[in-house]
Amino acid sequence: MSLAFVQKHAKPLKKITILGATGSIGRSTEAVIDGAPGVFEVVAVANGSDALGLARVARVLGAKFAAIADPAAYAELKAALAGSGIEAAAGPEALKQAACMESDLVVGAIAGAAGVEPTFAAIEAGRDVALANKECLVCAGEPFMRKARELGVRVLPMDSEHNAIFQALGGESADRIEKMWLTASGGPFREWSAERIAAATPEQALIHPNWAMGPKVTVDSASLMNKGLELIEAMHIFGIEANRLDVLVHPQSIVHGLVSFADGAVTAGMAVPDMKTPIAHCLGWPDRVTTRVRRLDLAQIGALTFEKPDFARFPALRVAMDALAAGGAMPTILNAANEVMVAAFLDKLIGFNEIASRVEAICELFEREGAHRAPPDVASALGVDHIVRERARASLEGLSR
Ligand code: NAD
Ligand code: MG
Repeated sequence: MSLAFVQKHAKPLKKITILGATGSIGRSTEAVIDGAPGVFEVVAVANGSDALGLARVARVLGAKFAAIADPAAYAELKAALAGSGIEAAAGPEALKQAACMESDLVVGAIAGAAGVEPTFAAIEAGRDVALANKECLVCAGEPFMRKARELGVRVLPMDSEHNAIFQALGGESADRIEKMWLTASGGPFREWSAERIAAATPEQALIHPNWAMGPKVTVDSASLMNKGLELIEAMHIFGIEANRLDVLVHPQSIVHGLVSFADGAVTAGMAVPDMKTPIAHCLGWPDRVTTRVRRLDLAQIGALTFEKPDFARFPALRVAMDALAAGGAMPTILNAANEVMVAAFLDKLIGFNEIASRVEAICELFEREGAHRAPPDVASALGVDHIVRERARASLEGLSR
């Protein structure tokens, strides 16, 4: 075969932008892209405040544009990119600019509601999005997905449970689903007594048995709040109501999601717990990308076990399910309050159980005040998010480590 023939018939490179490029998902995305030479071209990378980390990933992946949210980090980013030809920019507008650049897929991997504006900018610019950032959908799911539908933008689920369900659906429409289960590992405290959990430290909450992730999602996994946020995420991604959604605790983290149909059939998505698999699935979709992820050896694992979640020891899951059932602005309020309380727990201002109890108290406060009307657009959702954060922070005033 001549070189000219190969070049003429070679597939064009798929253009990717990574928001949250220096985080846990960002680094796994880098590894998938790095492991599949000649498949992807990275257009832009963006992150929060780690200038050196962003400059490194921009250089390694050959990005053209690097945007950092923190304006104070601009000089360091610019200096670290000197001579590379990669353009540096800083601030919220720079993040949106990165999100809107011409690309085939934007990876949404910023942690927390900080990801809402840049990820939504990508949607508004008509870019397909691979979404790891579940808080986008918990904070502003309805207007977020409505805009995606209006513009024909595809939102591919990168969160492992939703990705497994997307694959288990095999192209069937979600309205055929009788029931959907997301699995949870149960986190580091699955077998702990209520007394031990109450005294858990940030160091203990940050040791996850099966997944290596950023700090916020790791604490959410220990409280099971993560699974509650993921139920809300599933409702928006798949357009399924709360009463058809459920959770199974599955300590081996091999089956990530299951769906059942009217004929009694159940299909499940399985893989070893490594985010590179759902990331590769989203990056490659509708094709498959080869990864070096460890292959699943069921005979070696031997037994897969499932149990119901224990709401008494893990009340955060119930608090989140209540917010899901209440609807309106409750998921937005839940998400903002939870982000503030997780940060307070990591700062050792509050105990582990106080995350759930304080989040619930804030949800009840806003419900009593009648401020739970569904935000009609993303800007209104962010407005609610802002007010809730202020109230949540005010409730912590006077506490010290
Ligand atoms: P992380 O804390 O490791 O990384 C977060 C990234 O977001 C970093 O690049 C950081 O610089 C960036 N960031 C933080 N604040 C920012 C801001 N204000 N503006 C722009 N960028 C900002 O988090 P992670 O574990 O990679 O998780 C990212 C998202 O993916 C979260 O929503 C999480 O729930 C979700 N998720 C993570 C995993 C996982 O295995 N890590 C699995 C499923 C879903
Ligand atoms: Mg998940």
